[in-house]
Amino acid sequence: MRLYKTDLHLHSVLSPCGDLEMSPKAVMKKASEMGIEIIAVTDHNSMANSCVYQRSAVQFGIHYIYGVEIQTAEEIHVIALFDNWEIARKFNKELFNSLLPIKNDPEYFGDQIVIDDEENIVRIINKALLNSSIWTFETVLKKIEAYGGFGFPAHVDAYTNSVISQLGFIPQNSKIIAVGITAHCDVEGLLKKYPYLKDYALIRNSDAHYLADIGSGTTDFYLEEPSLSEIILACKNEKKRKIKYNWRSDGK
Ligand SMILES: [Zn+2]
Ligand SMILES: [Zn+2]
Repeated sequence: MRLYKTDLHLHSVLSPCGDLEMSPKAVMKKASEMGIEIIAVTDHNSMANSCVYQRSAVQFGIHYIYGVEIQTAEEIHVIALFDNWEIARKFNKELFNSLLPIKNDPEYFGDQIVIDDEENIVRIINKALLNSSIWTFETVLKKIEAYGGFGFPAHVDAYTNSVISQLGFIPQNSKIIAVGITAHCDVEGLLKKYPYLKDYALIRNSDAHYLADIGSGTTDFYLEEPSLSEIILACKNEKKRKIKYNWRSDGK
């Protein structure tokens, strides 16, 4: 068992708000320099670039988890993670079909670029990805579970698109065990404001849209091996897997 530094929420060139400098090689090189060993590229509502970033991660010795940042009907951002591409691909297809039929405005949001291993542009997605699915928050969580994935609200401390900003609370009947927090979240302040968040694993990620932000937010997990199932165990604090909270003064 040892510590693994992770970033489970960042964006590729596909995200309309993501910068073109976020190429697979540049992202993985920077992640590797920052000591990140497990990564999930989570674009808005699409996994179209997942395999290219996965292959690049392997070349840099980084364990890749397939991921996506879903925008629910209530405009809540939820991270969904999968350890298997075949399952992720099917989930992605169903998710894409659930998006509202609105066209992207590249002038305003930027292009939604799908690339190949050589970083050539292979196609541009026209359906607006920075948009909502018709799935509600509860439906999204159920779908992720049905596909054997792991879902958590993306950034509970954010002023917009957070489960707390949109609903005012975390639904108690949902099976959420972890919540994402932003790179610069003041965790002690957050826990003072919302004491019930101590019942959840807090996963800090960079949500990087630019290379400079990679490494700004990470989470250290004690794991037997780099895998999604181990991360889930750590979020549950089971079988000695756990999160090492750097913000805690006792370092536990
Ligand atoms: Zn978000
Ligand atoms: Zn994001």
